[in-house]
Amino acid sequence: MTQKRTGTWHTEVSSGAGEAPTRSDAHAGASDRPVGQDLLEGLTDPQRSAVVHTEGPVLILAAAGSGKTRVITRRIAYLISMGVPAWSILALTFTNKAAGEMRERVATILGGHESRAGRGLTVTTFHALCARLLRKHAASAGLKEDFTIYDTSDQSSLCKKVIESLQLSTSNFPVRSVLSAISTAKNQLLDAEAFAAQAHDFSSKMVAKVYSGYTKALRGANAVDFDDLLLLTARALRDDAQVRQACQDRWQYTMVDEYQDTNHAQFLIASLIAGGGGQAGGAGVSRVPNFCVVGDPDQSIYGWRGADIANILEFEEHYAGCRVITLGENFRSTAPILAVADTLIRNNKLRKHKDLFTKRSGGEPVEAALCRDERHEAELVVDWLKRLHVGGPNTKPAGGGPAAEPVAWKDMAIFYRTNALSRVVEDACRGAGIPYTIARGTAFFEREEVRNALGYLRVVANPADGVSLSRIINTPTRGIGDSTVEKIEAFAEREGMPMLEAVRECVRDPELSGRSRNGCIKFIELVDGWTGGGTFMGEAISGSLADLVDRVVRESGLRDMYVKQAATSKNEADEQRIDNLDELVSSARQFELEYDPASDAANEAPEAGADPLGELVKTPPLLAMLRAYLESVTLVADADAVDPSQGSVTLMTLHAAKGLEFHGVAMIGMEEGMLPHMRAISSYQGGEREMEEERRLCFVGVTRAMRRLLMTAAKYRTVRGMIDRTIPSRFLSEMPKEHMIISDQSDAYADLAGSEWDAEEANDGNAEQTSPKVPARAATRPATMNVPFPVGSSVRHPQFGVGVVRSVTPGVGARVEVEFKGVGRKTLVLEYARLTKM
Ligand code: ATP
Ligand code: MG
Repeated sequence: MTQKRTGTWHTEVSSGAGEAPTRSDAHAGASDRPVGQDLLEGLTDPQRSAVVHTEGPVLILAAAGSGKTRVITRRIAYLISMGVPAWSILALTFTNKAAGEMRERVATILGGHESRAGRGLTVTTFHALCARLLRKHAASAGLKEDFTIYDTSDQSSLCKKVIESLQLSTSNFPVRSVLSAISTAKNQLLDAEAFAAQAHDFSSKMVAKVYSGYTKALRGANAVDFDDLLLLTARALRDDAQVRQACQDRWQYTMVDEYQDTNHAQFLIASLIAGGGGQAGGAGVSRVPNFCVVGDPDQSIYGWRGADIANILEFEEHYAGCRVITLGENFRSTAPILAVADTLIRNNKLRKHKDLFTKRSGGEPVEAALCRDERHEAELVVDWLKRLHVGGPNTKPAGGGPAAEPVAWKDMAIFYRTNALSRVVEDACRGAGIPYTIARGTAFFEREEVRNALGYLRVVANPADGVSLSRIINTPTRGIGDSTVEKIEAFAEREGMPMLEAVRECVRDPELSGRSRNGCIKFIELVDGWTGGGTFMGEAISGSLADLVDRVVRESGLRDMYVKQAATSKNEADEQRIDNLDELVSSARQFELEYDPASDAANEAPEAGADPLGELVKTPPLLAMLRAYLESVTLVADADAVDPSQGSVTLMTLHAAKGLEFHGVAMIGMEEGMLPHMRAISSYQGGEREMEEERRLCFVGVTRAMRRLLMTAAKYRTVRGMIDRTIPSRFLSEMPKEHMIISDQSDAYADLAGSEWDAEEANDGNAEQTSPKVPARAATRPATMNVPFPVGSSVRHPQFGVGVVRSVTPGVGARVEVEFKGVGRKTLVLEYARLTKM
């Protein structure tokens, strides 16, 4: 994964509309539509060139905020306006949210009278596309079409069972690490056998065994995991000419946004569908691919998950004669923000430089503030957001200047490297009455009550889904004990039978207790009631998805169970569970309203001359809709939860922020060990690769900001109950000071916080002690107030052993600094430290 070329990307600025495709006979139906000249308005020359260069392979390689996503959207609308059937256009994005927005924008651009022309367009994520293709071509991939997609939590419980069944210990083979090794293998298209063949040491041989058992268990449950979606689709497209042909017949135009973050399997999938090109796409096809990929190598941030930056860097080699277009100008950010991003990313050595520039002048300097600790940081950020929200002269970092317009909460965001950093900021937002939303798309579907309801629905859609069935067979309680469930699981595995069938069989077992038997009978009656014993859910039957979800939630007894629980506990959290179940029904209703079978990737290309949409306007089968719904809730991503209509500040990880933009952005935790992450620092000696990815992540964060950017570091940060003295991120020191206002506010906080900090200052013996901001009264306060361990006393810590107390910070969240014999100085929060007096 090295960059072979040097210098800057060459830009091709074309003659614009002259390159528009000539209308072929196939597009003749559109002759009454205006040619899409108006779709080219508001675009720069290079952007226009990228839109109209629709035929053949195209690589749009451009910097952050230069309009790459805008170009893809316009290109789709342009193609449709030129008479290309929407049906034959495939656009792949990274999140469902991005896909939805792109679809909406295309519809808006096309306007009312053209909206039907946009039907059948496939704009989706790789995973969602693969799920649909695998249902359609299940046999080719060795699956049954009603397979379930297992999420991370299902994967973990299945993998744990396999590890234990092999008599291995999960401390030697932690589930997370084993799953990560399996995931890496799958991304490289290595199945369990191929993985075993190249496993030479004991540890990888054992992982190979788990991989094999895990695959068997997945197939037994008629389930796939996220990586399988990509692996099995890539293999089916590569090895099965019919599958490949069906896709190539349907999609004549393939586009991929954020191409720099594709992994090997995704590369194969896109290029095999597009056809032609290098060794991957060339399989059995001679057509010239209308394949347009868009990306920015400086924003490649998923290397740790198998993304291969080489896919974009080597695109020109795979597709000889491909057109390379760069877009140049940035339309998103102010000059100071761009200067900061540009100077930062120049520190990456393994890159080709692209200029980051805007024609707009002015803009506020970027702010960077050193805070005392995470609470101070959160207060400072909240204060900054509040000032932006109110507007006026007080928003100016340097003071003075014309009054700034108020900024809506929805136009602001707080980014962090890891989710753990969000809690303190959340508290501060709540305290200040700022509406906020945490972008965690999976959060709703991970709730216990929602998982239970989905468990029932998954059994309805796939009677072999053992993980779901074991979860809900006795929830609410039906008198079926754990040992009965284990028996049923073992029986299903032995007989190679779907688990629901095993429950039916087990009812006949004379050894089963009466209670368990009755419970099993009740359970089967329930499921049969929803499926008509299998026939009701037949392919041809239609019905309301929301009604089905509502019936399942009520008839299963789940809703009643939570109603009773709430009545007994009088607890708000339990009340919330009932609301969440109702919300699930609403989400199914919303899905039903928006469900468009015409966009279903599983549909084949229409017969020549047929109206491709005629067939599809009729009501979709309920089973197909249920599967699509379950798929959509399983494949939800964090960024999908960003919803500007909620009118709240978005809190999200830097990874999830990719592709988005906000008027004001605050990036917290700009410290060594956070950003760059500790993992990159520890592997730094081994090479620059991970450190450069961290720098790109920081670059992605900076380039999300349109007008205002604040970065904060805390001098002290509590991680897992232990306070660490931190070092500001190296990335801050790499940024250009002339475009920034950098302030050390950690002292000022001592003033604000009063006695909380001053005792420590008094103890520290460092220069801060003499700061005029620390009130004299406070500085002389006895350091040992409220603290059971005076300075100089000996203490024992369960992990670090024996040490001597060197300083004490009393008050709320009291902490002590202890010099341990073995591990040196540590600052500990008394509440968590479990210290004992010696
Ligand atoms: P990223 O690298 O972050 O994915 P991008 O290259 O995809 O960014 P877009 O999101 O398409 O960039 O565009 C960035 C911003 O610039 C958007 O607000 C977009 O509407 C605006 N923009 C793009 N092109 C133009 C233009 N020609 N005129 C005015 N605004 C533009
Ligand atoms: Mg983009």
